[in-house]
Amino acid sequence: MRAKLARLVAAYPYHLARIDGDALVWTDGTRMPVGADRPARPFDAMLKDATIADQLRQDYSPGRPDGRPPRDHSPGRLRHTALFVKMYGDCRRGGAAGRHRSVTWMPRTRPQDLPVTTVNDVAGRLDRVIEGLESLPDRFRAYLVPSAGTFNCRAVADTGLLSMHAFAAAIDINVQHSDYWAWARSRGDIPYRNRIPYEIAEVFEAEKFIWGGKWYHYDTMHFEYRPELFG
Ligand SMILES: [Zn+2]
Repeated sequence: MRAKLARLVAAYPYHLARIDGDALVWTDGTRMPVGADRPARPFDAMLKDATIADQLRQDYSPGRPDGRPPRDHSPGRLRHTALFVKMYGDCRRGGAAGRHRSVTWMPRTRPQDLPVTTVNDVAGRLDRVIEGLESLPDRFRAYLVPSAGTFNCRAVADTGLLSMHAFAAAIDINVQHSDYWAWARSRGDIPYRNRIPYEIAEVFEAEKFIWGGKWYHYDTMHFEYRPELFG
């Protein structure tokens, strides 16, 4: 856990200063409990109120997926909401919009202006992702346009917690070719589905966006900026 906490601090250098005992210390002096000594709980319980330590339990593995994700392996779905609210602002209180700027999604294919947070230079990183995606062969474009959106001040259906869309640090590509675990809800195991080519996710991963296609609770159109999860 010590190495993962060091990685968290390094991933957000403008906001986070250091670890002190069981506290995450921010550059403005704020202290947040890490919860490193609390034992792991069942995934569904952690999903509802993840500690900072819980958020780091599952590493995201960049690279071509090797089979379907193991049960409950959804790196990125565990989020300590207070950490992201402090970093990106709270959209429910109007505290985020001033930090957004417009990014033009796929300008040479089908231009679409989308609000993206400037915090952590997420907007600049998405600009570089777009450049990489525009350079892919034409057969990939249908998966990308139109985007189903970036900013949405809403809670995730099954947790009631804010998603990374509420922080304008996530993007959904074309819903037409996407699969989402809750659409296929069945008793017991969730059957894995994905039609998005990995070449697209590879471009996002280069800028430290994770892909929902690598989650047991898959959301294959979804990408979010989560640099702390890359090992
Ligand atoms: Zn999404």
